[in-house]
Amino acid sequence: MNYKNGLTRISILAASMLLFACATPQATFAPTPATATFITPSLVNTPIPEPATTQPADVIFHNGVVLTIEASQPQAQAVAIQGSQILAVGSNADILALGGPGTVVIDLQGKTLMPGFMEAHTHYLQNSYFAGKSLEELMSNLVRFGLTSETEMHGNREFIDAMLAAEDSNQVIVRTNIFAQYNYSYLVNEKTVIDPAWYVDNPPILDPSHMVRIPGVKFFVDGAGTPDRGCPFDSFPFPSTVTDAWPEVWESCRTPNGELYLDEAQLTSALQTVQDRGYRASFHVMGDASANITLNAIETVLDGRPNSMYRHQIQHNSLLSPEQVQRYVQLDVIATVPSMFDTCNADTYLPIYGEGYYQWSVNRYTLADLGAHVSAIGDWLGGDVNLLNPFRRLYGLVTMRQWPIGGSVCEPPEWIAKHKIGVERALEMLTIEPAYTVSMEDYIGSILPGKFADLIVISDNPLAVDPNQLIDLQVSMTMINGKVVYCAVGAGAFCPSTVPSNTNAIPFGFTDIPVPGETISGTIEVAGWALDEIRIDRVEIYLDGQLIGNATYGNSRPDVEHDYPGRPGTPNFGFIFILDTTSYSNGSHIIGAIAVNSSGNRGPLIPGELTITINN
Ligand SMILES: [Zn+2]
Repeated sequence: MNYKNGLTRISILAASMLLFACATPQATFAPTPATATFITPSLVNTPIPEPATTQPADVIFHNGVVLTIEASQPQAQAVAIQGSQILAVGSNADILALGGPGTVVIDLQGKTLMPGFMEAHTHYLQNSYFAGKSLEELMSNLVRFGLTSETEMHGNREFIDAMLAAEDSNQVIVRTNIFAQYNYSYLVNEKTVIDPAWYVDNPPILDPSHMVRIPGVKFFVDGAGTPDRGCPFDSFPFPSTVTDAWPEVWESCRTPNGELYLDEAQLTSALQTVQDRGYRASFHVMGDASANITLNAIETVLDGRPNSMYRHQIQHNSLLSPEQVQRYVQLDVIATVPSMFDTCNADTYLPIYGEGYYQWSVNRYTLADLGAHVSAIGDWLGGDVNLLNPFRRLYGLVTMRQWPIGGSVCEPPEWIAKHKIGVERALEMLTIEPAYTVSMEDYIGSILPGKFADLIVISDNPLAVDPNQLIDLQVSMTMINGKVVYCAVGAGAFCPSTVPSNTNAIPFGFTDIPVPGETISGTIEVAGWALDEIRIDRVEIYLDGQLIGNATYGNSRPDVEHDYPGRPGTPNFGFIFILDTTSYSNGSHIIGAIAVNSSGNRGPLIPGELTITINN
């Protein structure tokens, strides 16, 4: 047990919060009655309580496998929680001794408890916000997957303002960090568009007690291999064999070496400005030449000072030479890597990059064992919410296999397989390392006295299961700030008293066909899946906002069952609606599908608005 040390840490935490709050004009703590039903209002905007060393714990978890993600005490049996913070971690006997008459004691029955996961680079909230999703639904999806923190890696002004307002009305239950955009992710008239958002008028929001923080600024340095974005910027031209594997290459690449959005002088100057304003910078970098330019800019602006003071970070790092990898280590630049490599396309890397370079696409994974700060990212852009699942990402890192949603597993060839990452390190890359990217490593990301009680109970111990089964692990309970925000069906024994009612669950799912942009004629099927923590009552189908009927619900979907075992009605999550397009005019229309559960709660299925063209 580390009780004494815990008291010190709680004091430090309280003291730092005061300092941060003073330096942050946005600290508009104005608690208003929560209107959302999923969250507990006291979760947010509650002052951190004074250390109550003589008070008993509010909650104790014991008789479990506690994975702390702390080198000094990697495993323990029990954890005590007081208010929003971890009070102590240690043996069953030591922790149970901290209980009192009002303590809620949870017997984990050998289950594993660990820190909540953090997604270090996603677009889930912003893209879903602009798709018209409710924040309540988005938050409930995140906590269902054990995600207690996330980083939106590209925020425009409207989204940032919306999230800050949402925090003021207590709607943000998952810690959300937003990097304000510097330039667009895509080219307009073959040029980058600089659109400095939000950070030009505001200092960063770094207060660790805020649920919405704005710690950084995001730069797009090169392309991404799509026609609107251009190509990654490489030091060598794509070889002639590129067209074998990537026939559309010339629609994407304007030059044989790809596209550079900002040259080294522009990048250095912009980074200096951002750093001087107190922000960290994050760079979209996919080519090796753009990595060099970015590393040069960072080295110049750091001017000999350690990057641990500033936390500048490079995203993707898709193609790195072995020498460049060493430079990341020397500069202590934070790197992120995809957590499930593109293994299913392994055969295309040789023709796209050529013999001398194709293996550079996995060199970034060596950073994990070289003492560099590396986070594993999901980079959700759209589509299936299952892509948020951190256990898919843990599986990807540890096995280097790829298991696409709805597809079958792809085995890595040796040049990829040799970069498999150990389970302990992979867990760090999904918890404490992402916390470090936003300077939250003293507050979240591991189980240590004084940190926020952001914890999850999971179905099995990732250090003990076969690596192939990591993808099957499930979240039983998610806690943020010491309060339960998710309790899985059948897991009530692991959830302390403040359990949100399942009647507040919101249905979710996916419309598989037709696909967005499809041209359809005659009679077609509209089909997909929907499920919930409680039973689905019906799936309503809309055309241009008008209800046109209910789908047939209850077809077997074993693929969905794999990702959501044990949900009511399993595995019959599928729906089908027969649409006679001849009853409607030719031209563009919008199809929508909404699932309604037995409590009457309604959830639009992804994509929320599916635009198709009828052509009879
Ligand atoms: Zn991204």
